[in-house]
Amino acid sequence: MKAAEFDYVRATSIDEVCDLLDDAGEHKIIAGGQTLVPLMAMRLARPSLLIDIADVEELRFIRVDGDRLCIGAATRQVDAERSALVRTRLPLLAQALRWVGHPQTRNRGTIGGSIAAADPSAEIPLVAVTLEAQAVARSKTGETVLPLTDFFRGPMMTALAPDQCLTEIRFPLWPGQVGCGFHEVSARASDFALVAAAAQVTIDADGTCTRLSCALSGIGAAPVRVTAPAALVGQRLSPATIEQAVSGIDAEIAPEDDQHASASYRRRVARVLLARAIADARDAALATA
Ligand SMILES: Cc1cc2nc3c(=O)[nH]c(=O)nc-3n(C[C@H](O)[C@H](O)[C@H](O)COP(=O)(O)OP(=O)(O)OC[C@H]3O[C@@H](n4cnc5c(N)ncnc54)[C@H](O)[C@@H]3O)c2cc1C
Repeated sequence: MKAAEFDYVRATSIDEVCDLLDDAGEHKIIAGGQTLVPLMAMRLARPSLLIDIADVEELRFIRVDGDRLCIGAATRQVDAERSALVRTRLPLLAQALRWVGHPQTRNRGTIGGSIAAADPSAEIPLVAVTLEAQAVARSKTGETVLPLTDFFRGPMMTALAPDQCLTEIRFPLWPGQVGCGFHEVSARASDFALVAAAAQVTIDADGTCTRLSCALSGIGAAPVRVTAPAALVGQRLSPATIEQAVSGIDAEIAPEDDQHASASYRRRVARVLLARAIADARDAALATA
């Protein structure tokens, strides 16, 4: 199938993008095109105007700003994957990026595009929800900061208004002895996750967990931050305490049957992957001592 007819503009500044988005009409931003182009080819998306942000320099950066690591929305996934700053300061994202598509798709796909596409099984949104990241969006009328825990509104649906362009994702940096873990099951390598689990912990000098955040994807319409494992704060992270805490997630998730896997399979795998992610996070935190 071929995409329906459309006009195309290659923008060079965020102001230009906001002006174009302010005009009425069925317009769409294209970043890496890895999700949008297939949707257009299947005529599931029919923009009359494509606004290409690939050349908007001010949307491509990775930098530490105080206690946050900020990534420009048009930053390629491969650039974040190869970034020493991401590897050393935001290892949870570095681990997750290895699971995103193929090297070829990561060469084009962007960090902001994955967030805006809002696929319920995508890895980058899962990391963003786990770390309670923020999204910055711009329109002609100004800038908005959106907590990503409240951004995803369902499959391919977000809190973004049609005249808004994502400009930046801000990931909080945790102080102290921090470790993280990421585990995923997919039908084939590089497929979207059937289920994925992400966890980050902080432990103190005697190995007690002092902070924990974890989330799951592939088990609902958007990534879900699960709170039952927070019972581990104040405890040592042994296989028994982890298993006990993870068993409490059942009430917080509502996976459904689909052609890829049954709800009961996803529920079982979610517990196993989450326990592994928390155990890896513990080991990584211990290794920083
Ligand atoms: C074969 C294949 C396998 C893949 N496997 C995976 C996988 O395993 N895991 C995974 O997470 N992803 C996977 N993907 C998707 C890939 O990661 C995409 O890159 C990503 O979903 C979208 O990013 P993009 O930059 O390509 O966005 P685009 O396709 O350009 O845009 C996606 C959507 O976001 C909107 N958008 C983009 N940027 C902005 C912005 N700055 N502000 C507002 N709206 C914006 C667009 O209008 C569009 O609606 C796969 C893709 C392919 C082709």
